[in-house]
Amino acid sequence: MECIFCKIIKGEIPSKKVYEDEKVFAFEDIHPQAPVHILIIPKEHICSISDLDKEHDSLMGYILRVAAKLAEEKSINETGYRVVINCGPDAGQAVFHIHFHLLGARSLKWPPG
Ligand code: 5GP
Ligand code: ZN
Repeated sequence: MECIFCKIIKGEIPSKKVYEDEKVFAFEDIHPQAPVHILIIPKEHICSISDLDKEHDSLMGYILRVAAKLAEEKSINETGYRVVINCGPDAGQAVFHIHFHLLGARSLKWPPG
């Protein structure tokens, strides 16, 4: 069975798209943990950080720049924001298509839960 984020990229599962280009797709999280909660994913299916190869280095850096651009568009670049990647059971990773959470528009606690 194909992964749900691959289906979201293809439009087979509806999502609130925030950004798309040839490499990346971004959409609103269905259960937002902050007023701004966007998921940024590569179009290439990569299960987790642990599955990254050297060939993904520039793609990962590119996604961080997309996160910064979206933070600016959402006007949270000055108040601040957090970019999170959960990996594996202890981090609570639930979807095994690597995704960057962009969270902001409220004060975020540290350390995270
Ligand atoms: P993880 O815990 O794997 O880091 O995060 C998975 C995230 O995907 C969660 O924040 C969850 O709310 C979000 N999510 C899961 N299924 C869907 C979906 O079908 N649509 C959207 N927009 N978000 C989803
Ligand atoms: Zn996938």
